[in-house]
Amino acid sequence: MSLTNRILLAMVSGILIGSLLNLILHSAGTPEMVQAGVNDYLVGGLFDVVGRIFVASLKLLVVPLVLVSLICGASSLGDSARMGPIALKTLGLYLATTAIAVGVALAFAVLVSPGSNVEMGVEATYKAAVAPPLTDVLVDIFPSNPVRAMADGKMLQIIVFALLFGYAISHAGEQGRRIAGFFRDLESVVMAMVGVLMKMAPYGVFALLAKLFATMGIGAILDLAAYFFTVLAVLLFHAFGVYPLLLRILAGLSPRMLLSKMRPVWAFAFSTASSGATLPITLHTVEKRLGVHNSVAGFTVPLGATINMDGTAIMQGVATVFIAQVYGVDLSMGAYITVILTATLASIGTAAVPGVGLITLALVLEQAGLPVEGIALIIGVDRLLDMVRTAVNVTGDAAVSVIVAKSEQQFDQSVFQDPRADFGGAVPSEGSTPTA
Ligand code: ASP
Repeated sequence: MSLTNRILLAMVSGILIGSLLNLILHSAGTPEMVQAGVNDYLVGGLFDVVGRIFVASLKLLVVPLVLVSLICGASSLGDSARMGPIALKTLGLYLATTAIAVGVALAFAVLVSPGSNVEMGVEATYKAAVAPPLTDVLVDIFPSNPVRAMADGKMLQIIVFALLFGYAISHAGEQGRRIAGFFRDLESVVMAMVGVLMKMAPYGVFALLAKLFATMGIGAILDLAAYFFTVLAVLLFHAFGVYPLLLRILAGLSPRMLLSKMRPVWAFAFSTASSGATLPITLHTVEKRLGVHNSVAGFTVPLGATINMDGTAIMQGVATVFIAQVYGVDLSMGAYITVILTATLASIGTAAVPGVGLITLALVLEQAGLPVEGIALIIGVDRLLDMVRTAVNVTGDAAVSVIVAKSEQQFDQSVFQDPRADFGGAVPSEGSTPTA
């Protein structure tokens, strides 16, 4: 069985077995000893340990991978004057797709009215975190100590440092060329580490999902069904409607290939609910399976994982309308535009880890003049939506990377079109050897 299928099988069986254990744990007929055993040894024991080790191993690769692949990318582009246009296109597309996502989310939510029949049953007690001033946010992008930036995993600071370093390499003559060669070798080694980790993925994905579904009551979805399914519908529409359309119009490529090659990445995103932890896999897939040259992917993918969160923005759009309806507040046209702007900005500020989209939602609600406590209404179903929206977030990163790479001729169409261009293959520019 191919690795993709094994990962997907692990995902499905994790969900099924987790849900079954949830039933066993909550059924009155199960002897207490069995419940305690399942809880302590399986859910809180084996699954927990395997899942946490898996996420830790993914995170382990993020900083080395981002650093090395950005340095390689920037050093090969540094003297070609394409760095500026690539950065502009990427940023423009990231912002535009996010704004489209919120716009569609608002339109859907207004049409469906998920909050109009909801009684405010929950005692809403959500306390918003205080947002730092914008000036600090800007200054914080620039590192004063690269080692601290890496130790703290500050992605934007690492990106700035790596871009500068890579650019300098391309302007340092013979010495620079030697260093560039070293980093290219290093990139192959780190990518090989990602390959090893991917082979472990079925176990990790299974353990994470089995534990989550064993502990999470799915009942909460029923109470919030209208909200839940509205967010889900817009997420699916964005992934299977908007991105394919953009890919066709802007790059003239078949979206089906991209979507099918993204499936294992979705399994990672879904089970970790973190675009940050999924980043090694996204980068690996975008470079080796979708044929985006490292000079573009090395920049677009880490940046996208950090600032491009269309799925998160969709949740925020629907949540805003939902909360307004529950509280009986009529949103004006101006408020909708404010929501589009703030949700787009908030998604940039959302860290690529589980649940942060809900925290930055406070910012959007505040700007729209809505009660921040409303967040308490939707917390119950957020984890499940987080898993799906993270998968949409990473799909956006991949789609934009492909579009930018195609427009810059940093793209290997034969790799993109080869369904078997796969894990462990060579770097696209060197011709890939399908192995799966
Ligand atoms: N979990 C999301 C991500 O990592 C962020 C969020 O929406 O909370 O992409």
